[in-house]
Amino acid sequence: HSNKTMYDLVVLGSGPGGYAAAFRAADLGLSVALIERYENLGGVCLNVGCIPSKALLHIAGDIRTAQEAKHGVTFLAPKIDLDTVRKHKESTVNKLTGNLALMAKQRNVALYIGEGLFSSEHTIKIHSNDASKDASTDTLTFKHAIIAIGSTAVHLPFIPKDDRVWNSSRALELPYIPNHLVVLGGGIIGLEMATVYEALGAKVTIVEQGNQLIPGADADQVRVYQKANASRMKFKTHTKMTKVDPSGETLKLTLTTETGEETLEADALLVAVGRKPNGFNAGIPEINIDVDDRGFIVTDDKCRTSINHIFAIGDVTHGPMLAHKASHEGHVAAEVVAGHLAHFSPLGIPSIAYTYPEVAWVGLTETQAKAQDIKYKVATFPWSASGRAIASGQTNGATKLIYEPEHHRLLGAGLVGAHAGELLGELTLALEYGATLEDIALTIHAHPSLHESIGLAAELGTGTIT
Ligand code: FAD
Repeated sequence: HSNKTMYDLVVLGSGPGGYAAAFRAADLGLSVALIERYENLGGVCLNVGCIPSKALLHIAGDIRTAQEAKHGVTFLAPKIDLDTVRKHKESTVNKLTGNLALMAKQRNVALYIGEGLFSSEHTIKIHSNDASKDASTDTLTFKHAIIAIGSTAVHLPFIPKDDRVWNSSRALELPYIPNHLVVLGGGIIGLEMATVYEALGAKVTIVEQGNQLIPGADADQVRVYQKANASRMKFKTHTKMTKVDPSGETLKLTLTTETGEETLEADALLVAVGRKPNGFNAGIPEINIDVDDRGFIVTDDKCRTSINHIFAIGDVTHGPMLAHKASHEGHVAAEVVAGHLAHFSPLGIPSIAYTYPEVAWVGLTETQAKAQDIKYKVATFPWSASGRAIASGQTNGATKLIYEPEHHRLLGAGLVGAHAGELLGELTLALEYGATLEDIALTIHAHPSLHESIGLAAELGTGTIT
């Protein structure tokens, strides 16, 4: 880039929040700089999150489909070439991160590789990792800034450093297939990685201290998932890991339950206990931007921080830590900077666990409705009654609609089953449009299809069918 160091907008961090903001702002005619500490753009999502995990889950899906085949066709045990599996993941990631660099170039977004640190309310210093460059060569001056520096995996102090103790990034590298993998944390990330390793041949145990896996989803939906996987993985809920002893051939794990202690031996331990926002980094507290005690930057519905011309988006702000939430906020922040009327107030942010079967939900869950004392009704269509599901051996599934008792307006939806994440699209749109169950029931759904279960659930709710 040129020697220009003054920009309408500087975006810090190139994840799905940062690149979406930078590109939208450039499209709206602003001069934009994008700062990223790593050579590869795309943040956690593209490099060590959403995308590589889905590349591996696709392969896990192929294996499971073959393993679960019946009705007169069976396959031999899979032959797994780990290097080629890894290559599929790497080429997927490289295609997407490479495209980002091209898109930045096409839009004249100036890229700076290095660690950004606010030095005042209008300047940011970039500490380059490039040894050939003088450290801290670049100081950029900006009219506006958007902070999109994401989050970091939570580390538990009692867990030792050891090659056999992994975080999600390490697990995605596929270092080896352990005989027994223990996953600490029954959230989406833990379960997705468990799915991958189980399909690749590991025995898998999931340890979760809470009373349910996938804490954001409704318990009845999670039960469908758990039942479908009961013969493939061990699930230990209400169980706390209290000690990890790395001194032997295998890791010795101490678990505490309501009834006492037990030990487990593991060849690898994946710690997936959540992520914490990076709001205490990058000189943010030093320039007096409001950061809460957990490290989330405080923002309003225009993604503005406590400093009027500085915005924050994505994992570093409140709300679900999801890529599409980050990029949606990125668009809002960029548009507000460009002087447009925009704000972030979705009726639902879709969540998907890309497990087998998938678990997906949007808007209000039944658990939330109860906790917030919201009046609601539920209509659930079990996939054991769906023609398409029966024909394709996918009866482990349920479509659940949560709606206002009086006007039948959709408040939320949950889906568990094959392709649940794809089916969620219809319900996300219905929710944003304020659809009622009658609107959904009167929409013709193709027969036989899995999405037909949405129409049928709505018909159950409206009393059209019983
Ligand atoms: P990030 O993607 O974290 O990007 C922040 C960027 O800022 C990084 O590139 C970082 O290097 C850079 N940065 C930080 N500090 C500085 C600094 N001082 N100077 C310069 N650069 C800096 N979400 C989904 O929606 N769907 C999924 O399927 C999904 N799967 C996931 C799987 C895993 C294993 C993990 C870990 C996460 C997954 N997520 C998923 C979550 C998703 O990755 C995040 O919500 C998303 O990446 C957040 O985007 P972001 O732009 O806020 O931050």
